[in-house]
Amino acid sequence: MRIVLGGDAFDAFETTDLTDEYVKIVFAKPELGLEPPYDLAALRETLEPSDMPVTRTYTVRSVDAVTKTLSIDFIVHGDEGLAGPWADRAVPGDLLTFSGPGGGYRPDPAADWYLFAGDQSALPAIAAALEHLPAEARGLAFVAVGDAADELVLDAPAGVEVHWLHAAPGVTLAAAVEGAEWLGGSPQVFAHGEREAMKALREVFANRGVQRSKLSLSGYWAAGRTEDRFQAEKREPVGVILPV
Ligand SMILES: Cc1cc2nc3c(=O)[nH]c(=O)nc-3n(C[C@H](O)[C@H](O)[C@H](O)COP(=O)(O)OP(=O)(O)OC[C@H]3O[C@@H](n4cnc5c(N)ncnc54)[C@H](O)[C@@H]3O)c2cc1C
Repeated sequence: MRIVLGGDAFDAFETTDLTDEYVKIVFAKPELGLEPPYDLAALRETLEPSDMPVTRTYTVRSVDAVTKTLSIDFIVHGDEGLAGPWADRAVPGDLLTFSGPGGGYRPDPAADWYLFAGDQSALPAIAAALEHLPAEARGLAFVAVGDAADELVLDAPAGVEVHWLHAAPGVTLAAAVEGAEWLGGSPQVFAHGEREAMKALREVFANRGVQRSKLSLSGYWAAGRTEDRFQAEKREPVGVILPV
């Protein structure tokens, strides 16, 4: 679900040159009747900690300085959660509060080649990166989606092969990346998505000798966890993805 955001606050948004730039969207419990923008400091004085608004992290798919809008692609993953259902129900005029942007990756024009791996949560960042590659770039991109209906038309250089993986027993990003014929030289890698899938990919990259300085890898979410739990688990063994 693509949501296009605009309004007077656009001028306060300082975009970066990172292709994985993201924002932290603030969601309050609907039953509290709070209207964005939220004064979090004031709310902290009056609300129970369990009633405080929480954040959800989303990639800024694109920024348009001419129309003064930015786009965010939300996966609608059922009725669970805050952000997915919000996007599913959003109507023109709804308000959103967020902080940011942050980010950490941009394609290095000097890289030998580029390797992308992710699920739909990373597809906005992968799509943005593909659009920023040099025209002569070579590479491989693996994107795990539900089925063919989830595939998007991507604007990738001719030298970058895009592989769509459809959900099926035994189909994993790690198996696809491991089984692929890698190009010569050393790749700059961007791999993000469900945490356990990223742990499996981390093994593949370690075995292939990918240099840590050329690897952007992290979980974007974890199965069975809200984002609050997922973020908290980064401080527990289950939430740690070891460096290569
Ligand atoms: C840097 C970064 C950038 C991200 N960019 C995007 C983006 O551009 N678009 C996007 O859609 N997501 C993106 N994500 C992932 C998104 O933040 C999480 O999926 C988040 O948990 C969604 O919040 P929610 O309120 O919908 O669900 P939550 O309340 O967090 O979770 C409720 C339930 O839904 C499950 N769930 C959460 N996400 C998914 C999913 N993707 N598929 C299936 N089940 C899920 C959880 O495991 C949990 O069981 C990004 C995450 C990070 C860290």
